[in-house]
Amino acid sequence: MNLMYQSTRSNSEPITASQAILKGLSSDGGLYVPVSIPKLFVTTEELSKMTYQEVAFEVMKLFFTDFSDDELKKCINKAYDEKFDTEEIAPLVYADGAYYLELFHGSTIAFKDMALSILPHLLTTAAKKNQVKDEIVILTATSGDTGKAALAGFADVEGTKIIVFYPKDGVSPIQEKQMITQTGDNTFVIGIRGNFDDAQNGVKIMFNDKELEAELKTKGYQFSSANSINIGRLVPQIVYYVYSYVNLLKNGEIKDGEQINVVVPTGNFGNILAAYYAKALGLPIDKLICASNDNKVLYDFFQTGVYDRNREFILTSSPSMDILISSNLERLIYIATGCNADKTIELMKALSKEGKYDITEDMKDIMKDFIAGYAGEQQTAETIKSLYEKTGYVIDTHTAVAAYVYNQYKANSNDTKKAIIASTASPYKFTRSVMNAIDEQYESMTDFELVDELSKLSGTTVPNAIEDIRSAPVLHDTVCDVDKMKEVVLSILK
Ligand SMILES: *Cc1c(COP(=O)(O)O)cnc(C)c1O
Repeated sequence: MNLMYQSTRSNSEPITASQAILKGLSSDGGLYVPVSIPKLFVTTEELSKMTYQEVAFEVMKLFFTDFSDDELKKCINKAYDEKFDTEEIAPLVYADGAYYLELFHGSTIAFKDMALSILPHLLTTAAKKNQVKDEIVILTATSGDTGKAALAGFADVEGTKIIVFYPKDGVSPIQEKQMITQTGDNTFVIGIRGNFDDAQNGVKIMFNDKELEAELKTKGYQFSSANSINIGRLVPQIVYYVYSYVNLLKNGEIKDGEQINVVVPTGNFGNILAAYYAKALGLPIDKLICASNDNKVLYDFFQTGVYDRNREFILTSSPSMDILISSNLERLIYIATGCNADKTIELMKALSKEGKYDITEDMKDIMKDFIAGYAGEQQTAETIKSLYEKTGYVIDTHTAVAAYVYNQYKANSNDTKKAIIASTASPYKFTRSVMNAIDEQYESMTDFELVDELSKLSGTTVPNAIEDIRSAPVLHDTVCDVDKMKEVVLSILK
């Protein structure tokens, strides 16, 4: 029997995993969730003898039941290969009382690679299974990290094209360089004269443009989405929580069945939701510690039961967490309503109309395993500096938010359980903020000088993702006005 997927906003017929991956978002605006959560039936003991790819197979086959074993294994092997700079794929590093789960060893050195390296293969396999003959065109708006990870994932994947729009003056120099040097005949990168919201809005308009859809259909194209609402991104993220737990077991750090805590620097709520699913699968996780930066909507929500986005948007040194609407929270809300689509719609309507909603005591109770905290800019910087001074280990700004929140939690509770901190980006991706946190003498250096300094100071080699862009030629130089985005897409798909 296939595990089916239901939209959080309707009680209509559920669909298969491959259909949910193809659609991305449900046409009623809801997110797809599995109608029930399966259980792991291999033991942690058995899993601890497996490679990352083998664990990935055991986890994903529980969720993607309409993929054959062979199809799934092919997707996994194409995704988790030499693109990663370590065979372990997601290694654990112990430092100062916590285990850092390094999720940045893929081609763009941020955790988005963990899912975006497999999504293209899941998507093209899903297209074949469902007799979709059209070429799939991924349209993405990015504020930096997702764009590059999606480009790297889809580059040269047969049967796909990827078009990324980014705000020309709204990303970091390293992020821009990573995107505009992207190789692959099927990749297209366009700077827009506007901000991220303009880019995102332009893309949404194209997704809902029925005329455009029909026109593309005649040319053999259909749009799809690579952002984190796609269930094809969520499920691959469950894998590394299972893998890291069994690694702790293998290394004798924990006993079988011993509970651990998980700490996640959170933006769109995708990564921590994957940890929640890992727990639901039966993995012995106790607390799910949700760490926010100054945009602490989620912290306030878990404290009070009120989600309120009516506040100033603050630009921080952890930009991938600068977000006021955490889309994946809708999945947890739906679960907490007892899978009640009408109630979920009511809350999401309130969010789009008034920018806020509140939940009942019963719903709060269902979410009681979530603990929330936040770190301000200074606390984030101090955490990087003190961890470096104590241990020599250098973490990025996003991971530092989580480390600070974890240290606070430990200090204020009697909880002595071991903890895994999701380390979501390499410090090389946010070199300037990281180096400035460690010492202000670095302020006058260029970005690439800082990269070399970081390498010396941390004793780590510069990742290929950074080496590659030092001298890589610019391959994309199209810039357009916001109202010309559709024309650009049509000229690409002529
Ligand atoms: C995307 C991202 C996050 C936030 O992850 P969510 O799944 O959106 O909560 C945290 N850190 C980094 C470096 C990211 O790129």
